[in-house]
Amino acid sequence: MTPPAPAKRFAVIGNPVAHSRSPFIHQAFGMQTGIPLHYDRLLSPLDQFAATVRHFFSQGGSGLNVTVPFKEQAFELADTLSERARLAGAANTLWLHEGRLHGCNTDGVGLLHDLIRLGHAPDGKRILLVGAGGAARGALLPLLNAGCSKLHIVNRTAVKAQALLDILREHRPDTLARVSGGGLETAQGAYDCVINATSASLGSLPPDLPEGLYAPGALAYDMMYASTDTPFMKQARKHGASVVADGLGMLVGQAAESFRLWHGVMPDIAPVLHGLRQAMETA
Ligand code: NAP
Repeated sequence: MTPPAPAKRFAVIGNPVAHSRSPFIHQAFGMQTGIPLHYDRLLSPLDQFAATVRHFFSQGGSGLNVTVPFKEQAFELADTLSERARLAGAANTLWLHEGRLHGCNTDGVGLLHDLIRLGHAPDGKRILLVGAGGAARGALLPLLNAGCSKLHIVNRTAVKAQALLDILREHRPDTLARVSGGGLETAQGAYDCVINATSASLGSLPPDLPEGLYAPGALAYDMMYASTDTPFMKQARKHGASVVADGLGMLVGQAAESFRLWHGVMPDIAPVLHGLRQAMETA
């Protein structure tokens, strides 16, 4: 009898990385799909990212998720990049195929999976994207490809929102008629979905947004997640959002898309999200 193939090795690489939920999520996906795998946390010295990645793959590793602060370096290191990674300027998923290092960015697709799960698919929707950092940039293409009718990007530092428009002008000029950008004060009007892609919720204050942004039935989505409501979620409830969600589902969604790229199987997000939420609430 042929012995079973050894479980493939995966890890999330970051600095710090001890807080990462990725091992919990990928091990749960592995059990759910019957795919054996090892998934660890890999702490890389800040100045040794490339060497740590090369060592991992030279020792038989199969795939890496990349977290703060290395997503841009992962983008630089990859031999080939998906369109999503190119537009995001960052990679959060690496794997080796025929000796070449491939890079993709699954954060924006993770967001998309979660919006669909919440019953707020972007198709035909007016979306306000708050923030212009890496997470906002990664969300652009998935939101536009999913058919939103309008995407207004606002940021505390207005020129950075303009810089995202410049990226679209270069890579996807066909989307420009639906896209606009400016400072936070330009966030006027009614939206079907307001997405907070700022790190403001790390502090105690939400981004400085005007009232009156939420159309009837609108969703407020904070990419940040926590065991209690974030400042943005509290602000959104006060400003009349009908549905309010944090970004835990996006986290599980991006992991699911990485899992699909590595194993060729799309796992079921909902039970793993449920298990992770419970684990966070009882921690
Ligand atoms: P980043 O590149 O550092 O960008 C930070 C953004 O937040 C910038 O647009 C910055 O505006 C804005 N900002 C910071 N403090 C603010 C404040 N007090 N008021 C208004 N705007 C403020 O960070 P990132 O990587 O894009 O991450 C953004 C958020 O997304 C983080 O909370 C992160 O945890 C979350 N995220 C979640 C997932 C997930 O799976 N759920 C994945 C990726 C990221 P300026 O340009 O004016 O400084």
